[in-house]
Amino acid sequence: MTTSAELRASFLDYFAQRDHERVPSSPLVPANDPTLLFTNAGMVQFKEVFLGRERRAYNRAVSSQRCVRAGGKHNDLENVGYTARHHTFFEMLGNFSFGDYFKREAIAFAWDYLTRVLALPPERLWITVYTEDDEAADIWLKEIGADASRFSRCGAKDNFWSMGETGPCGPCSEIFYDHGPEIPGGPPGSPDEDGDRYVEIWNLVFMQYNRDAEGNLTPLPRPSVDTGMGLERLAAVMQGVHSNYEIDLFVRLIDAAARATGCADRENKSLRVIADHIRSAAFLITDGVTPGNEGRGYVLRRIMRRAIRHGYQLGCTTPFFHRLVPALVAEMGAAYPELVASHEHVERIILLEEERFAETLEHGMRLLDEAIAGLGDTRIPGETVFKLYDTYGFPTDLTADIARERGLALDMDGFEQAMAQQRERARAASQFGGPAGLEIDVKGETEFCGYERLHEEVTVVALYSA
Ligand code: ATP
Ligand code: MG
Ligand code: MG
Ligand code: MG
Repeated sequence: MTTSAELRASFLDYFAQRDHERVPSSPLVPANDPTLLFTNAGMVQFKEVFLGRERRAYNRAVSSQRCVRAGGKHNDLENVGYTARHHTFFEMLGNFSFGDYFKREAIAFAWDYLTRVLALPPERLWITVYTEDDEAADIWLKEIGADASRFSRCGAKDNFWSMGETGPCGPCSEIFYDHGPEIPGGPPGSPDEDGDRYVEIWNLVFMQYNRDAEGNLTPLPRPSVDTGMGLERLAAVMQGVHSNYEIDLFVRLIDAAARATGCADRENKSLRVIADHIRSAAFLITDGVTPGNEGRGYVLRRIMRRAIRHGYQLGCTTPFFHRLVPALVAEMGAAYPELVASHEHVERIILLEEERFAETLEHGMRLLDEAIAGLGDTRIPGETVFKLYDTYGFPTDLTADIARERGLALDMDGFEQAMAQQRERARAASQFGGPAGLEIDVKGETEFCGYERLHEEVTVVALYSA
């Protein structure tokens, strides 16, 4: 069996042997880029190089980049536990050309690596290109000899890649692996492509443009290549398993989650969610994020509270989540020494959050169970969602996660109304306080009436009477 660690090394070696500089993963919090919540792709640390604003001593690079997709433009939080291929945290293997090679070489490298080095059968591989990209289509069909029956052209939604609202972008070509007819799902571009049979493994992005704030595309000075392949998806293919959650690394993390929670059923969805979330939580903390009530800190808190709730579902009423840290360090510490260095800090922060949420989780769950039991509707009332959020520290996506398990939805309009009423009450109270009071805008991070505010956009105007 090829282990995840061996695959990571094999990829880096392959491109290093072809004059690519080995560049270490950058942190999850992008340096000097407030437009981006988290590093969500290998190219993020090279953004300025792609834009031609920064020069490096090399024009080819290879990396294995830690990524989080749990908020912002690429958000896979809702997919975790529901698809076989999505994580909140994953590693993206990538090779990059900064104005050096372009489509022809990028496609040839990818094909050679998959079919010769890893010896994957070409009949299992499906290729897509952007509808208008004749150049890439010709390379695949005429030069590589890809089979036209496993080749298709797709629209901008999937085959035009951009990092965020602005920045480098361009058409892309994707490589999918067919996990076999036992698994539901159609080929790329077909109406049921969202199944897990054909799993996208590698995206080759041909960066030709920069998109500005108005949406205008301008050609980049030197066309470049950015590729990304999910290490966990590749490991699943190479280890002959369908789900990412069955690869070596996840089997051991799920074992650790099973021990920490006392749940013996390794197939249990909650164990997968917990195993996924320990990676994003631990690496976010390693990279300097702490749980809080806004921005990045709030995303981290939402991830942790979801994991804690899944543990509660398995019967854990005392802290368990921090106990997965040693297993994670054993699994990933060799590749990420920063995780080893921070592991005590990570355990402490997670334990604190567990203790904090424990105070309200059980009561909140009881309230929610009662509300659901008395429900004549398929939607949980906005009032309840608000109360859970406001009084019990349940982020709305956590309540939605529980609702989804029970085939229910949330009344989000009602929630927004309750939120607006709350704001109105706060405003009225502040006026009532009169001029003697001092208004402080505490933007969502206050303890108010003993409650916690846990919404990204909430702005509470508190009144301080001297
Ligand atoms: P999908 O369509 O499956 O959601 P994507 O098109 O959003 O994937 P890209 O943005 O093209 O993904 O990222 C490049 C590669 O990173 C993908 O081909 C895949 O192998 C991997 N990848 C993307 N998102 C995830 C995720 N949430 N978990 C694990 N691997 C991922
Ligand atoms: Mg995606
Ligand atoms: Mg895709
Ligand atoms: Mg893609």
